[in-house]
Amino acid sequence: MISKTNQKDLLTYLEDTSNRQGAASALYIPQNQEELLAIIRELSKKNIPFTASGGRTGTTGGCVPQEGAIISLEGLKDNIQIDPEAKTAKLEAGVSLQDLEKEARKHKLTLRSLPTEPLALAGGVASTAASGVHGFGWGGIRNYIRAVEIFLSSGEAIHLRRGEIFSQKRVFNFKIAGRQFDFKLPDYHLPACKSQAGYFVRDNMDLIDLFIGSEGTLGIISSLELALQNIPFGVFDGLLFFPQEEEALQFTERIKVGAQNFAPLQNPAALEFLDQNSLNLLRREYSFMPKAGGTVYFEQEAENKEEYDALVDKWQGLIETSGAFLDQSIFAETAKEREKVYQIRHKLPQLINEFLRRAKQVKAAADIAVPESNFKQMHQYYRKVSQEAKLSYLNFGHIGESHLHFNFLPQTNSQSQLAKSYLKELCRLAVSLGGTVSAEHGIGKLKKAYLEIMYSQDEINQMAALKKYFDPQCLLGLDNIFSKDLLGTGPSQITPIK
Ligand SMILES: Cc1cc2nc3c(=O)[nH]c(=O)nc-3n(C[C@H](O)[C@H](O)[C@H](O)COP(=O)(O)OP(=O)(O)OC[C@H]3O[C@@H](n4cnc5c(N)ncnc54)[C@H](O)[C@@H]3O)c2cc1C
Repeated sequence: MISKTNQKDLLTYLEDTSNRQGAASALYIPQNQEELLAIIRELSKKNIPFTASGGRTGTTGGCVPQEGAIISLEGLKDNIQIDPEAKTAKLEAGVSLQDLEKEARKHKLTLRSLPTEPLALAGGVASTAASGVHGFGWGGIRNYIRAVEIFLSSGEAIHLRRGEIFSQKRVFNFKIAGRQFDFKLPDYHLPACKSQAGYFVRDNMDLIDLFIGSEGTLGIISSLELALQNIPFGVFDGLLFFPQEEEALQFTERIKVGAQNFAPLQNPAALEFLDQNSLNLLRREYSFMPKAGGTVYFEQEAENKEEYDALVDKWQGLIETSGAFLDQSIFAETAKEREKVYQIRHKLPQLINEFLRRAKQVKAAADIAVPESNFKQMHQYYRKVSQEAKLSYLNFGHIGESHLHFNFLPQTNSQSQLAKSYLKELCRLAVSLGGTVSAEHGIGKLKKAYLEIMYSQDEINQMAALKKYFDPQCLLGLDNIFSKDLLGTGPSQITPIK
């Protein structure tokens, strides 16, 4: 086990890409499962709070502790077992998505959902229920998690396999490793769009889904089993530049409606939008990019040559009548061209993070999704707020899922304060449209005030009681999702573990 207490050694573990700064007294980097279990048990015995840290690519301060110890999972990465027949990968929590993909590709397999940033670690990705550019076609990581091994803060291990333990309506009643668990889930209902705001709860749900996306508050994920798929026969991408934002938006609407009619061909894997300000920021790196009012990025996969040719024809027909700048738009078919297009899209959040780091400001971004039928209305709100706020901003993201990342770029503390109040307003509007205040990045420590817009105090208290049921000493991932003050000093308000 690597352990450090010198503050200088802890520094990089006291932040993530949100720029939020934390505090801790010790860092532990277990090198195997036994060491992980041993340190959890020791911290638990000494009643020392601890926070799980993965790739630290999170954007909401989730892995940034406020006190106690950090357990970094980065050392648990040796063992990736690919089963080519079953198309599964068994791996420890510290394996990066990049390393997993490299290994999977040796067997002509891939994690098709392409969740998030390649430097994120498997445990972090599962704990944030990440999704990414392939969300439109393939959904988020939740759909691909078959099993997880979880260490509770007490040092007990529970192994959960999808399909084995379900709630009866909202009540769980099951036995694991000789322990009886009985508890009731919170009452709230998830919105009718993708959401990563608070615990995932619904009637008759699989227990594994409660732990996925729980942002390191219920247990530490030590290993996982993921479903893989065959590498598709062919893939092509496009980066389409439109003179006006409205034309780009209309094109994405055509694809979204058309996606239902792509059958029997594959639906697009990715459908993304970048506004003019996003493009202006990117142009600082990629000077060849034209001045455009809006940009659409798409990715299309095909299972065989016939399908590939039919899809190329379909997209070329759609693009020719789209109003995009045909000479400057990019249609990428080779691996090299595709990598370039992907890098451009991926560069944008990195540039935003670099900007904020230079300005010494914490991330000021919305992660809102709304039901498809309300997206137009939400987009009008983005326009209204951007005009009123008179702050630098940009808007981009997963438009295929009616989910955009509206980012302010504050340069001073007072601009940051103003940005926060406008973001709150956007969250309020999103919730009024049946949407979520966090579609994929989670609540972490930065977005608790937005969660309070989405759920009542009583519903948030129910989340806290559920956390306390699994972590009675209240040691794990404190201040993530809800304030640690809600945990109180008494026992959980729901039935304690027998
Ligand atoms: C350039 C860029 C692009 C991004 N794009 C996307 C995107 O498209 N979609 C998206 O969803 N996110 C995106 N993100 C955010 C981020 O990559 C994801 O949230 C990712 O899943 C975090 O994984 P991580 O390993 O870095 O976790 P960390 O940031 O280290 O931690 C995240 C949370 O998980 C908890 N945690 C970490 N490991 C464990 C574990 N083993 N057990 C229990 N809890 C744990 C932490 O305590 C924390 O609460 C992006 C980030 C960047 C920098």
